[in-house]
Amino acid sequence: MIAFLKLLARNRLALAGGIVLSLVVLLALITPLLPLAEPNVTNTAARFQKPFTEGALLGTDHLGRDLLSRLMWGTRLSLAVGFAAAVVAATLGAAIGIVAGFYGGRTDNLIMRGVDMLMAFPYILLALAIVAALGPGLFNALIAVAAVNVPFFARNIRGITVGIAHKEFVDAARLAGLSNTRIILTEILPNVIPVIVIAMSTTIGWMILETAGLSFLGLGSQPPQADLGSMLGEARSALITNPHTSVVPGIMILIIVMSINLLGDGVRDALDPRLKSGALSRPMAATLVNRKDPVPAAEGKGLLEVQDLQTQFHVKDRVYRAVGGVSLHVKPGECLGVIGESGSGKSVTALSVMGLVASPPGVITGGAVRYAGEDLIGAPYRKLREMRGRNVAYIFQDPLATLHPLYKVGDQLIEAIRAHRPISKSEGQARAIELLKAVRIPNAEKRITDYPHEMSGGMRQRVGIAMALANDPDIIIADEPTTALDVTVQAQILSLLDDLRRSRGLAIVFITHDFGVVGQLCDRVAVMYAGRIVEEGPTQSVLETPTHPYTARLMACVPELGEGKRRLEAIPGLPPVVDKLPEGCAFADRCDRVQADCRQGKIDLEREGARAVRCIHPVTPLKEAAE
Ligand code: ADP
Ligand code: MG
Repeated sequence: MIAFLKLLARNRLALAGGIVLSLVVLLALITPLLPLAEPNVTNTAARFQKPFTEGALLGTDHLGRDLLSRLMWGTRLSLAVGFAAAVVAATLGAAIGIVAGFYGGRTDNLIMRGVDMLMAFPYILLALAIVAALGPGLFNALIAVAAVNVPFFARNIRGITVGIAHKEFVDAARLAGLSNTRIILTEILPNVIPVIVIAMSTTIGWMILETAGLSFLGLGSQPPQADLGSMLGEARSALITNPHTSVVPGIMILIIVMSINLLGDGVRDALDPRLKSGALSRPMAATLVNRKDPVPAAEGKGLLEVQDLQTQFHVKDRVYRAVGGVSLHVKPGECLGVIGESGSGKSVTALSVMGLVASPPGVITGGAVRYAGEDLIGAPYRKLREMRGRNVAYIFQDPLATLHPLYKVGDQLIEAIRAHRPISKSEGQARAIELLKAVRIPNAEKRITDYPHEMSGGMRQRVGIAMALANDPDIIIADEPTTALDVTVQAQILSLLDDLRRSRGLAIVFITHDFGVVGQLCDRVAVMYAGRIVEEGPTQSVLETPTHPYTARLMACVPELGEGKRRLEAIPGLPPVVDKLPEGCAFADRCDRVQADCRQGKIDLEREGARAVRCIHPVTPLKEAAE
């Protein structure tokens, strides 16, 4: 609740709306206590007094009644009726919507067709008809306004309920033997209440306007009782000669409706969980760059050269050092494995290369990413966009999340190609089939018309790879592409990637947490821990003689078939949180070789030949391992 209010207060307009509305409501509440003139006492001798005259701050109307007093009492009435109508409409509408959405089938059909019929009438006409049938009067106007708004709530809430009623947690409640009523009250309702509140906060202003409209037409509040609508109605005949009688209630309506709508929008934004994390701001097209230190000079080590890359997340006053100075490089035709536990900064490193880390909160604070010698960090967005997919392509872990569920895979492939090259539809078609064949999807001609959900996980990941290949990139960054797949499919995907790199000379950066996978595919491997590289070297050499205790422990976690009984060793503890990294070695707390000097000062990455390690008490001395 506090968090919600904080979020709401951050939205200036909503805050202003909230303050104004609170003032108006407060005034309306204390109206009976204020020293105001009687609102309904006429005094024809003092009619049409201008505002700011003695004894009548806002002037008087055509019967000499005090406008300030009528305004206050009228506001009180209009707010009460509008609010009551909104509550009635929301309650009825939500109840109808939940029942229709939850039970579905015939119940749903029957209810929603009835609602549709109500919606088929023009809005105001329906309200007029209801008041005409019930007779004029404020209460009947309330009923009419509530009635015409019920369908809006019913439709809205039904849509949400249908979505929720098929979720797993509702099934679980059914399996637990809960009655339908209990499920509706304890599982469904809490999930739709935010939507009801949002719908209410954005329509309440509208309902106040409608009530005022009915009163304006003489169908709502009856003389001498004042509400804002009837005040406007009575002032109509004197609009030209004494405009203040119309302006006073008019401005009040404007203030009320504006403040309610501003607040309502703020409430909607604050309640929407998707907006909470991003704090109402759109991510930028490319990661923010704020480099203070000089950019390292090119060393020409490979096609892609990451030098001392530092990427941080600035969340409020905290700084998460997700990538704290990582250097990597790959040559054409080479596969570099990046391995580490979940949260070690592998994905952030990979995304930083093409400026894909979301900003805010992401900031690249140092280092360089060189493609063929040219630094890409801070490059103009146009350049990055041209290179994304064309020079450097990505494959992600979950193809179901990266493929658009509503487009056929063929169309998505064609779109990926056309993002960089203008080709005709039929050419695109042919190329898409070619790509699907290249990733060994059988019966490619037929499969291009499949939707992502019609394919198996392995096939989908092949489509993901085909999309990455669509523009013949030089580098593919694969971020755990096989983690969601079973071992047999994983092996197929790995051999496919291996073939592709050999036949096309691709450079691959392969991110994984599985040493087994690294052993099958990668020429070199870099081990990451807490945003840093802790060990690096040719795969074979690292597998045979790991030097960093972390690497050794990671390898002990890999089960081997047919190796007899070997105890699998889990690494106790968790990686450190990257906003307060310990001094010295980040692995010290979990390391079984830890000594006092591990926790002091900076520990550098030491190099010896092709091997490198960031440890002062390695498992095997680096010199020995490098031989
Ligand atoms: P992984 O190695 O599993 O791919 P990531 O690169 O995704 O790890 O994450 C590295 C670190 O960055 C993690 O500690 C994570 O908590 C942090 N991180 C990632 N995204 C954000 C974010 N938007 N805000 C704050 N911290 C983040
Ligand atoms: Mg990751």
